[in-house]
Amino acid sequence: MRITRLRLAGFKSFVEPADLVIRDGLTGVVGPNGCGKSNLLEALRWAMGETSARSMRGAGMEDVIFAGTATRPPRDFAEVSILAEVDGRETEVVRRIERGAGSAYRIDGRDVRARDVGLLFADAATGAHSPALVSQNRIGAVIAAKPAERRAMLEEAAGIAGLHVRRREAETRLRQTEANLERLDALLADQS
Ligand code: ATP
Repeated sequence: MRITRLRLAGFKSFVEPADLVIRDGLTGVVGPNGCGKSNLLEALRWAMGETSARSMRGAGMEDVIFAGTATRPPRDFAEVSILAEVDGRETEVVRRIERGAGSAYRIDGRDVRARDVGLLFADAATGAHSPALVSQNRIGAVIAAKPAERRAMLEEAAGIAGLHVRRREAETRLRQTEANLERLDALLADQS
C-alpha cells in the first residue's frame, strides 16, 4: 500500500478543507509550534480506525471536530479521507464523525464497518497503531519496548496482524459452535 493523498475537513485545527499530496520518498512536515503537524499524523491514524480518544489527545472522540476559535464557530463534523494505492488500484478510505452521531466509515464510497477498515490497513502492514507511524511521544516507547512488544511491532510490520484478528474471530465462532453442539447433544439425550 502506498498512501498518496490525505484530505481533511473540520478535523482539529484544519477547519478549512485541506488536501495534501504525498509523493514518493520521505515526506517531512515542518512549521512553527502548534501549527498542526501532529494533528496531520493523528488524522492519518484516525482515518485508519483509531478508537482511543486519549491517544488523539482528547477526552472524547468528538474532540477531533474543530472546536471553534474566538473568531470562528465550531463545526458539526470532521472528515478525513486517505487515498492509497492498494495492489495497483486506487482506494479511498473515509472516516467521518458528526456530533452526537459517532463515526462512519466508507471504502470507495461504500459504507463499511470500522473492522473492515482495520483489516484493510492491517493486511497492508499498516494501521492506526502501525510502528511506522511514530509520533513524538512514542519515540521513547519504541526504544523502551519489551521483547514481546517488539515482537508485536515486527508482526505488524510483517503484515500478519490482520491474520491474528481473523484467527481470534474464527476461534470465537468455533467456541460458539461447540457450545451449540453441546446444547444439541443434551437436547437429543433428553428426547431419547
Ligand atoms: P508542536 O510543534 O508544538 O508539537 P504541532 O505543529 O505538532 O505543535 P499540533 O499539536 O498538531 O501542533 O496542533 C495543536 C493545535 O491544534 C493547537 O493550536 C490546538 O488548539 C489545535 N487544536 C487541537 N484540537 C483542536 C480542535 N478540536 N479544534 C480546534 N483546534 C484544535
